[in-house]
Amino acid sequence: VTVGILRERAPGERRVAATPETVRKLAARGARVVVESGAGRGAGFVDEAYADAGASVASLDDVLAADLLLVVQPPADELLARAKHGATLVGLLAPQASESRAAILRERGLHAFPLERLPRTTRAQSMDVLSSQAGMAGYKAVLIAATLAPRFFPMLTTAAGTIRPAKVLVIGAGVAGLQAIATARRLGAQVEGFDVRPETREQIESLGGRFLDLGVSAAGEGGYARALTDDERAEQQKRLGTHLGSVDVVVCTAAVPGRPAPRIVTSVMVAGMRPGSVIVDLAAESGGNCEATVPGETVDVGGVTVAGPLGLASLGAVHASEMYARNVLNFVALFLDAGRLSFDWSDELLARTVWPERADEAVAA
Ligand code: NAD
Repeated sequence: VTVGILRERAPGERRVAATPETVRKLAARGARVVVESGAGRGAGFVDEAYADAGASVASLDDVLAADLLLVVQPPADELLARAKHGATLVGLLAPQASESRAAILRERGLHAFPLERLPRTTRAQSMDVLSSQAGMAGYKAVLIAATLAPRFFPMLTTAAGTIRPAKVLVIGAGVAGLQAIATARRLGAQVEGFDVRPETREQIESLGGRFLDLGVSAAGEGGYARALTDDERAEQQKRLGTHLGSVDVVVCTAAVPGRPAPRIVTSVMVAGMRPGSVIVDLAAESGGNCEATVPGETVDVGGVTVAGPLGLASLGAVHASEMYARNVLNFVALFLDAGRLSFDWSDELLARTVWPERADEAVAA
């Protein structure tokens, strides 16, 4: 079987779906690996390193002829349309986001495994690209906030007087939010976090943050949050609005699966913040937690800087790729062995991730 590693083509995307380390491991499972020339360049992995690991460095056409294609982002429709019939495709594929993509996947008979569908069970942890990439995004979001803020994060005692530490509020304490809290703490800021899942209190406190209690608890299914009711939302906003006047930096990371990002920080709240404050909205990708966020831009709203950076994980392309590639390798190991692809549809990790859904009994069982 041949495994192909495509060069990512989305604007700003520097990550790659396999590293020389994972290429070696794919080869050890009996695969012939073809890497498109330049695929790892953005993440610091040169063609020679892949060749040393046992891959053939090849043209786009050779890679598209592979039986199994590994990608980070969905390839453009015209590339997908040239993939081998019946090939398997693994990556962050967002199949529902594009009708034409869905149509091509069906037409070409591609087995697509969009990794955002992977159930987040204990067994799947080593394959969880959402977590590994969210960790990098949370880290970078805080570094961007520290760069944009016209102040120090740590407390400093200097000959020119004492500098008080920055007050950082992290909204949403999932994987990205907890990494943001840990990073802001390491920079010496005074950190608060809040989330609608009550179990996050202990997690925030264990990182040296203070849990900001806004009186709303909304745990949903599968360990995720549910959307708030109108009353809950009003309560949260009333308390948050008052609090934001005393905060220097806000990092937004709140999300609800399958829905646009919840709007938490309104324009009125932004207007009530002190000039010189900074908001970094990591949820910009799915619309933003802040009403004033412009995805992909940094804007000044009455003296408050509001940044909506996109592709944050890609900013840390080396480690983001290393983690992504290991996640993908662990997933591929479910069906690649001794040089063959074989899918056990009674394995829920395969059956629940594959797209389009398989309508047979294996899935129902
Ligand atoms: P996510 O990206 O969907 O959401 C980010 C955070 O936003 C969540 O913590 C959510 O509770 C919070 N949020 C949603 N609406 C909010 C609101 N109105 N106000 C404030 N906060 C709000 O979630 P995620 O970071 O991918 O993961 C969330 C949970 O899943 C965590 O408990 C995480 O530990 C768990 N998880 C489990 C596994 C596993 O066991 N394999 C893997 C990954 C994540």
